Amino acid sequence: MLRELARDFAAEEIQPHAAEWDRKGEFPREAIRKAHDLGLLSIKIPEEYGGGGMGSFEEVIVGEEMGWGDPGFATACGSTMLASYPIITGGTEEQKETYLGRTAEGTIAAYCVTEPSAGSDVQSLQTEAVKDGDEYIINGSKMWITGAGYADWFFVLGYTDKSAGYHGLSGFIVDADTPGVELGKKEENMGQRCSDTRGVTFTDVRVPDNNLVGGEESGGWMNAMRAFDLSRPIVAANAVGNARGAMEEAWAYANERQTFGQPIVRHQSISFMLADMATKIEAARLLCLKAGKKVDSGERNTLEAAQAKLFAADMAMEVTTDAVQVYGGYGYSEEYPVARRMRGAKIYQIFEGSSQIQRMIINRELRALI
Ligand SMILES: Cc1cc2nc3c(=O)[nH]c(=O)nc-3n(C[C@H](O)[C@H](O)[C@H](O)COP(=O)(O)OP(=O)(O)OC[C@H]3O[C@@H](n4cnc5c(N)ncnc54)[C@H](O)[C@@H]3O)c2cc1C
Repeated sequence: MLRELARDFAAEEIQPHAAEWDRKGEFPREAIRKAHDLGLLSIKIPEEYGGGGMGSFEEVIVGEEMGWGDPGFATACGSTMLASYPIITGGTEEQKETYLGRTAEGTIAAYCVTEPSAGSDVQSLQTEAVKDGDEYIINGSKMWITGAGYADWFFVLGYTDKSAGYHGLSGFIVDADTPGVELGKKEENMGQRCSDTRGVTFTDVRVPDNNLVGGEESGGWMNAMRAFDLSRPIVAANAVGNARGAMEEAWAYANERQTFGQPIVRHQSISFMLADMATKIEAARLLCLKAGKKVDSGERNTLEAAQAKLFAADMAMEVTTDAVQVYGGYGYSEEYPVARRMRGAKIYQIFEGSSQIQRMIINRELRALI
């Protein structure tokens, strides 16, 4: 039922507008609100804070349909839960009531970790938070922050003790209207152009010490990384949905387009390409569902989340590229949706930990297992 609800929403409210949002770089605020009103975006927020009270498994199901609707739309919706996960896993009761409550009401939030010179190497970030009475003063510059221009609050990672290495990292909640918060201009990205990405600068930003996530310094690293165990299966499911959309479009086209007296689907190289696409999509879907199911069972899913993200991201790039190939010259034109899907697939290999970083995590996890 949940899949049907999400699929109907994607078919009616996302797909008809996706090309225009992408062309104009228009943030789909109204459609995000509608998805929220249907209960599709706060599935994992516990019921006591106004959310759906369901698990990652259900989030994966909806995530696939959002990516099928449009990958940019899926990312534009995704920033809020990415910022909310550290509050779910490590926030104080008061933080959960206030900020998960806001997520459940449909506001947008953003996850601010990356900096101009710290992406994969998170520990090299420069943002610092200094205690001053019952406040912290935050200074630093974040980059590539999804949803920043529309966010009501930010999860911000910075050092409270630089000498302690990653143990010195702490997470903070910063309301977007706090003095000293400044937004950069919207980035002109290759794909997923309706999603808002920009820098955020924090200059002498004062937050009450109640906004230190979890109420204790030094838990920031674990909390920010645990958020990825929850978000990666969903981002991977977005990639699966995007690939499925491309495969379906290529399938329809291959049955219509004639060369040498028959539909191109009758040429073995095209039909095998479609068979491979469908098989890879199914394999990626199962990895996402497994990663979601495992964390719902209360188990650590770092390995499965990284495997799902790695496989789905690389798969989506291959499948969308093959879909363009099936379309021939028409695939290269923005007239047809496969070009947008191919441009939109690339980022899955980069954000939320690049494909290289996922391989490093998988190796590390295997070393502990084997
Ligand atoms: C559209 C978009 C949205 C984003 N949204 C957010 C967001 O909401 N919040 C946020 O905090 N960040 C966000 N990011 C940032 C994203 O997570 C980073 O871009 C990503 O982690 C890679 O970091 P980097 O760009 O600094 O690349 P680098 O870390 O400089 O890496 C460059 C290349 O080197 C490779 N590499 C790096 N280290 C190693 C290694 N040890 N071994 C092998 N290869 C390596 C990488 O895989 C990559 O291919 C977003 C980025 C984009 C483009």
